[in-house]
Amino acid sequence: MAKIQMMTPLVEMDGDEMTRVLWKMIKEELILPFIDLKSDYYDLGLAYRDQTDDQVTVDSAKATLKYGVAVKCATITPNAARMKEYKLKQMYKSPNGTIRAILDGTVFRAPILVRGITPNVKSWIKPITIARHAYGDVYKASEMKIPGPGKVELVYTAEDGHEERTLVHTFDGPGLVQGQHNILASIESFARSCFAFALDSRQDLWFATKDTISKQYDHSFKDIFQEIYDRDYRKAFEQAGIAYFYTLIDDAVARVMKSEGGFIWACKNYDGDVMSDMISSAFGSLAMMTSVLVSPGGVYEYEAAHGTVQRHYYRYLKGETTSTNPIATVFAWTGALRKRGELDHIPDLVAYADQMEKASLATIASGKMTGDLARITDLRDPQVLDSISFIRAIRANYEKQN
Ligand code: NAP
Ligand code: MG
Repeated sequence: MAKIQMMTPLVEMDGDEMTRVLWKMIKEELILPFIDLKSDYYDLGLAYRDQTDDQVTVDSAKATLKYGVAVKCATITPNAARMKEYKLKQMYKSPNGTIRAILDGTVFRAPILVRGITPNVKSWIKPITIARHAYGDVYKASEMKIPGPGKVELVYTAEDGHEERTLVHTFDGPGLVQGQHNILASIESFARSCFAFALDSRQDLWFATKDTISKQYDHSFKDIFQEIYDRDYRKAFEQAGIAYFYTLIDDAVARVMKSEGGFIWACKNYDGDVMSDMISSAFGSLAMMTSVLVSPGGVYEYEAAHGTVQRHYYRYLKGETTSTNPIATVFAWTGALRKRGELDHIPDLVAYADQMEKASLATIASGKMTGDLARITDLRDPQVLDSISFIRAIRANYEKQN
């Protein structure tokens, strides 16, 4: 069979540890045999990031802006232990943070549903995609311990020296204070990414805050979403037959639990942090969560939601075969290739992505899976495969279909 041709290169960001091992297997078994891959390759493995003083991460993000679509392998975010392990020149920032800052994007995380892995919430029959606003609030707060009686105020000093004050609290004993902030431009970008991704994926968009209690801060989030929706997206949503829905955060949580899924849930920073862990564990496994960074300008970067699976990698280094689940990384590739196919009008590439995903899910549904899924499946007598055997089983299924 002739290989599928591409027009525009896909930005390829290689990564670290076990996922780097999977990356190579996936390319060799599931991609290169079928696609004449055009990729603009960047090695974000920690050793090369260190060698280039992290310039490679910046370059990969800039290439993503240029070409529009990237696929990324999980990468190590250095900490003190990694500094020693890799003898790093400096403690580099998280690549995802660096890339997100350049693309100004929002991360959408969605579970991959498959027969045999039943969500803990019985009503969920479609994925729930979580979008987290990744700037500000408690994550950039200033905090203070108040030692004893006294007054705390918020003070804004304008550039011309004009001041505005508001009382936080008059303490009559020790206490705590926290000052949070956000930036309207960041909230607007978040809203635009959410509306654009809802249209792109043809799903309803839910957004929730605590606007009844926080009448200026959270209420502004609500107002910004509503204004942008009314001005720029309402028509397109109506044409696409999808809805934008705002409600209070506690009402949203209750509704999510009774829903059947199939929508995007946009969350403020803290809500997104907490709720994305709840959603991924209730759907089954972190190894089955995909993640896509979408910029307000329509640039896409696909990856798995999990990390580099360090514990498995150390076993791999000792010569053991591991049963690390490659599905989320496979879907990062198919997501990126499908998007490339859509943008460049290559129906074969879109069909390839659909078929490869189908083959992956059919493999699991037939009882062949990695250890993490075997532990939670309700299929009887699952056959636990190591990573490469599982990937080859997917390939066999794909070849059978085509
Ligand atoms: P992790 O790589 O997500 O793995 C945590 C645990 O989850 C694993 O030990 C494994 O459990 C299970 N797991 C995750 N993915 C799996 C898969 N595909 N198949 C089977 N099991 C899977 O998180 P971590 O160990 O905390 O972090 C390792 C490194 O990843 C860190 O250096 C961190 O900086 C980086 N990280 C990168 C990203 C990213 O690039 N997007 C995201 C998160 C973390 P068992 O050991 O019980 O089998
Ligand atoms: Mg978290």
